[in-house]
Amino acid sequence: MNRRPGFPARGAIAPPAASPGKDRVGPGTGRPMQAGALAPVQGVGLDSGAVRARMVARLAAQGIADARVLGALGAVERHRFVDSALVNQAYEDTSLPIGLAQTISKPSVVARMVELLLAGTPAGKLGRVLEIGTGCGYQAAVLANVATEVYSIERLRGLHDKARNNLRPLRIANVHLLFGDGMVGFAKGAPYAGIIAAAGGEAVPQAWLEQLAIGGRIVAPTVMRGGQQALVVLEKTAREVRQSILETVHFVPLKSGIA
Ligand code: SAH
Repeated sequence: MNRRPGFPARGAIAPPAASPGKDRVGPGTGRPMQAGALAPVQGVGLDSGAVRARMVARLAAQGIADARVLGALGAVERHRFVDSALVNQAYEDTSLPIGLAQTISKPSVVARMVELLLAGTPAGKLGRVLEIGTGCGYQAAVLANVATEVYSIERLRGLHDKARNNLRPLRIANVHLLFGDGMVGFAKGAPYAGIIAAAGGEAVPQAWLEQLAIGGRIVAPTVMRGGQQALVVLEKTAREVRQSILETVHFVPLKSGIA
């Protein structure tokens, strides 16, 4: 297991090392270390809960209103998904490099896209969701909190493996990681209640529309005329596909094939 520096992050207020905090385990906390739990390193306590709660409060202040989304971002420890040198920035609203020239999206963008995916759906969990671009696995873990099943596909072997390593200790039973070209979707898991892309292409591939359930939605960054990307939402009804073009975004490119 990868040992990473523990919290607190920059600017975080951590309880004294001996006080048993909610997220704290291991020596001195009165709580046993569970197999797979992140070990406190060099006596530094692990208490990212407060920092994450502040991140969630900022997202709510910025307009994220769906309690399911706020709950999911509050539940997933983003610092576990970034390289140890970047752990201090894990709860800032910034994208961060995850290797192979790819990035983990900003929390506010993840929250916005997941909220769009859930918009108009009844309370409770969405059904099966397909994510294109697993990257480090963070958004897949977020999605696992709001959907019954998550199929997440990545075209770069190195990142597929990284996501597997990041997710393993979390033991999330409803995330299925796939290595392949997400441009063709994943027909075996179809139909999907939602499809969400973390990489931006010139157009939404036809395969995604075919694999989307009636009543389902696609949320995908898409390159517009002029070269800028915008968030696009596609809603599939029995009769038509409705498209909304929303704000400008900056995602890594959607590429075909595997590497
Ligand atoms: N959701 C990710 C964001 C990763 S960045 C996270 O939380 O970290 C987007 C990812 O999309 C990159 O890893 C890139 O390799 C991947 N990607 C780009 N085109 C793809 C394709 N056709 N199929 C699958 N993954 C693709």
